[in-house]
Amino acid sequence: MNCRELCGACCIMPSISSSIPGMPNGKPGGTPCIHLTAQYQCGIFTSPDRPKVCDGFKAEKLVCGNNQYEALIILGQLEGVNGFSADVSTLQMYQNIEFVLNKVSQ
Ligand code: SF4
Ligand code: SF4
Repeated sequence: MNCRELCGACCIMPSISSSIPGMPNGKPGGTPCIHLTAQYQCGIFTSPDRPKVCDGFKAEKLVCGNNQYEALIILGQLEGVNGFSADVSTLQMYQNIEFVLNKVSQ
């Protein structure tokens, strides 16, 4: 599949252990990368400092789901992010998603 616009879930949910400009220790799962823009695009896409691991993430239906919310849930569960486990209620899950999305580009 092609990467969808207005998503960015893979820049939020997976942890990154390698250094990111401005995030020298990488980032924990469930935390938006500081370079993820409000339009859910990578702000350093063409920079040589963009982590190699970011290049390695390819869009796949299995992890990207059908929309941004599904991708956040699938990737959040794969990463074991607190508040995204399968036993969380739908309402609570939506609230947790909104909480995470509100941290993008702040
Ligand atoms: S989760 Fe998938 S669809 Fe969403 S931005 Fe990442 S690669 Fe693209
Ligand atoms: S550097 Fe760019 S591609 Fe990598 S996690 Fe951050 S916003 Fe996403």
